[in-house]
Amino acid sequence: MSTNCVFCKIISGEIPGKIVYQDDLVVALQDINPQAPHHYLLMPRKHIATTLDLQGQDAEWLGHLYLVAGKLAKQEGFAEDGFRIVNNCNAAAGQTVWHIHFHLLGGRNLSWPPG
Ligand code: 5GP
Ligand code: ZN
Repeated sequence: MSTNCVFCKIISGEIPGKIVYQDDLVVALQDINPQAPHHYLLMPRKHIATTLDLQGQDAEWLGHLYLVAGKLAKQEGFAEDGFRIVNNCNAAAGQTVWHIHFHLLGGRNLSWPPG
């Protein structure tokens, strides 16, 4: 828990957020500013700032998070059409919240390369 982290506050219930899935390791919530018809943010419960802060022990929740992302895409009905999982690391990549998270985007055609 980081006291000034918006995602920690949503996870702890201190501020509202539309949580669509949670378990002991990870939480998925709807993005407040969706960039696709389906836009979820998947993250660990514990506060880790960026991909560069990951350590060996994080492999457990990381692998689990990837499985949860696929299940969520299937459950919400956009898996077969296609979806994207994105992690922005640091400012030049567009990271704006320093609690590591993975965007799960689907429900429309996604262009490549990204902006
Ligand atoms: P980043 O730019 O760090 O990769 O992604 C941060 C994401 O968090 C953005 O897509 C932004 O819309 C979302 N976001 C920022 N503040 C909040 C919030 O208070 N609640 C929710 N649900 N999403 C947020
Ligand atoms: Zn946090």
